[in-house]
Amino acid sequence: MQQRPRLPLHWQILIALVLAVFAGLLTGTDGALFGLPLVAVFAFVGELFLNALKMLIVPLIVSSIIVGMAGIGAADNLGRMGGKTIGYYTLTSLLAILVGLLVANLIQPGVVTGSAEEVFGLTADKASLEARFADKGAGDIVGIFLRMIPSNVVAAASEGQMLGMIFFSLLYGFFLTRIPNQFAEAQFDFWNGMFQIMMRITDLIMRFAPLGVFALVAQTVASTGLAAFVPLAKFFFTVLLALGLHFFVTLPLLLYFLGGIDPRRHYRAVSPALLTAFSTASSSATLPITMECVEQNAGVSNRTSSFVLPLGATVNMDGTALYECVAVLFIAQAYGIELGLATQFTIVLLALLTSIGVAGIPAASLVAIAIILSAVGLPLEGLGLILAVDRVLDMLRTAVNVCGDSCGAVIIARSEGEQGVLTDRPVAAAGDDAT
Ligand code: ASP
Repeated sequence: MQQRPRLPLHWQILIALVLAVFAGLLTGTDGALFGLPLVAVFAFVGELFLNALKMLIVPLIVSSIIVGMAGIGAADNLGRMGGKTIGYYTLTSLLAILVGLLVANLIQPGVVTGSAEEVFGLTADKASLEARFADKGAGDIVGIFLRMIPSNVVAAASEGQMLGMIFFSLLYGFFLTRIPNQFAEAQFDFWNGMFQIMMRITDLIMRFAPLGVFALVAQTVASTGLAAFVPLAKFFFTVLLALGLHFFVTLPLLLYFLGGIDPRRHYRAVSPALLTAFSTASSSATLPITMECVEQNAGVSNRTSSFVLPLGATVNMDGTALYECVAVLFIAQAYGIELGLATQFTIVLLALLTSIGVAGIPAASLVAIAIILSAVGLPLEGLGLILAVDRVLDMLRTAVNVCGDSCGAVIIARSEGEQGVLTDRPVAAAGDDAT
């Protein structure tokens, strides 16, 4: 029934993306057609696409985790899968942060002569920044994790509190396998049915991805312009370089050595998800497409992907963790504040924790950076220095976040002995030469 488009989807999205850059540059904020401002048209179409993706998040996360948990079944399987997932996520986030730390210390993008505010063109007014973020302190980290156990699961769902929803769904799926058969079967069929329906709707929405991506990117380019980048070019390229190292070096090495997988094939398989992540700047909104790519194109079983990916979209954010680290160091450098080893270590730890806790939505890092700044005693208004380029960097780091999740899914699937995953050769057994 399903008609295959002639041009593969990732090419369609890529072309849309390039066209969008030109369209955005051409129209700027003033371009209009028949009196209708084009930016408003882009914003309208982009929001429709985003809404369509977000509409799936709650039912998709809940149904996929419940089905995934029920599929994992026995407690020791669960322990193994859970352990691998947490281990992989912690390892990659930590590697990403260390790359960020290294690059930011080597390049020192914030070291300038003169007042940081003038050199970097402080974009936000200090008072409003203070008002927005003043209450963010180290205590907020506790708050993030307190919400993990929601007092009201319906409220958690309606407020988009992923951690709470995930926790409840994990419990639900776990106990689904521990009730009498007649109830368990009915429950499983129900949630599995819901999951299948969500994936079908994802199929439909994905057909509109090129249009949605075009609108979102054109809107960003039209409203950001290039001028904002000039003073922040060094910071921008520092982040770009660090993200690039993680994306092109660390993750491919992990894919190859831990999973026995050809990174090029994997990246090709998940490219629609990466491009959607780039355009939406939201890991959560991209989740339906990530799941579709990892299952359909990379051949990961539903059992693995429905456990690893929804968790990853919320707790595993390599790009975000890296960005938080670089941004905080940049702000410290810009204000001429030397950070000792102990403080840098605190930053690493806080970047790791907050990247787990913050939601997969646009600009979520800003809240995390505010928390870190106040925890290590740096001026909060420093956030204003990076706002001008945050959106584009958000797009880039979100693509890295989603890439990290997808790599986790295939690596864990391979380690569980799944045969259908992208590879031409068997996974190296422990102790085998992986090269
Ligand atoms: N936008 C990012 C994401 O959704 C989070 C962030 O770094 O702001 O993954």
